[in-house]
Amino acid sequence: MPRPKEELIFSANSLQSFADCERRFELNYLDELKWPAVETEPVLKSEVFLADGRRFHEMIHQDLLGIPVMEPSLVDEPELAAWWQNYRDHDPIKAEGQQYPEKTLVSTIKDRLLVATYDVFVVTEEGKVIIYDWKTWRKPHAFQWVKQQMQSRIYPLVIYQERATIPGADKLQFEDIEMRYWYANFPDESVSFQYSEDQYEADKAVLELIIDRIDSLPPGQFELTSELAKCTYCPFRSYCDRGSVAGSIEEHDSPESAESDSLFGNLDDYESIAF
Ligand code: SF4
Repeated sequence: MPRPKEELIFSANSLQSFADCERRFELNYLDELKWPAVETEPVLKSEVFLADGRRFHEMIHQDLLGIPVMEPSLVDEPELAAWWQNYRDHDPIKAEGQQYPEKTLVSTIKDRLLVATYDVFVVTEEGKVIIYDWKTWRKPHAFQWVKQQMQSRIYPLVIYQERATIPGADKLQFEDIEMRYWYANFPDESVSFQYSEDQYEADKAVLELIIDRIDSLPPGQFELTSELAKCTYCPFRSYCDRGSVAGSIEEHDSPESAESDSLFGNLDDYESIAF
């Protein structure tokens, strides 16, 4: 039995999944199918990549809480060690103020629950909010692509809507919100943008349209993506008759596969565990 749609708690990850492929959303969030376990080398590598990404987030969280962090091994965990070294060298949180690491805020859109878990946001003394998000992507994705991701639409929106619950941010204006993505592999190429009322209205309209579409689709009518590149890394390939062998994780950040980030290394994965 599919999960009733009214029970869905939307997140950047689930809505990105829908934006990437309606069928993927249905299989994952409504049918709640487990990912088929394909014991192939690319899948194992992707699991290591995801595990390293999770560990990197946990390490930064620990660091922000003032808990000593065990250094990753350069030999056994070279990628993680490089990310950590970059984090240490660049100290990416430049804003001063009250930090909220791994903070979850719950809001609503069209009277449906919308949840966002932030890597960290900072409320400055001037009452501004700077959202930081750590990305372990293997390529520094372009600003326009990043800006259109659900995370970029949802995270500032939830902060604005829930400003009354954030100490020191109750008088927040749209322009007082900034989102900064920090690339662990490319610390000098990070991306940031300032929020605005126009952006809020545009993002809200996009999210409402998606939720309307989800509500309108009967079971089995969620469309398979026409972009076959998105299927290459999708763990539901065998359900869709789109192959059974995973693509190579090394090729994942090619332009063709960039949209597949909701599967690999999207740091909103932490939400997907629960939602
Ligand atoms: S295999 Fe392709 S069509 Fe099927 S769920 Fe995955 S992305 Fe969608």
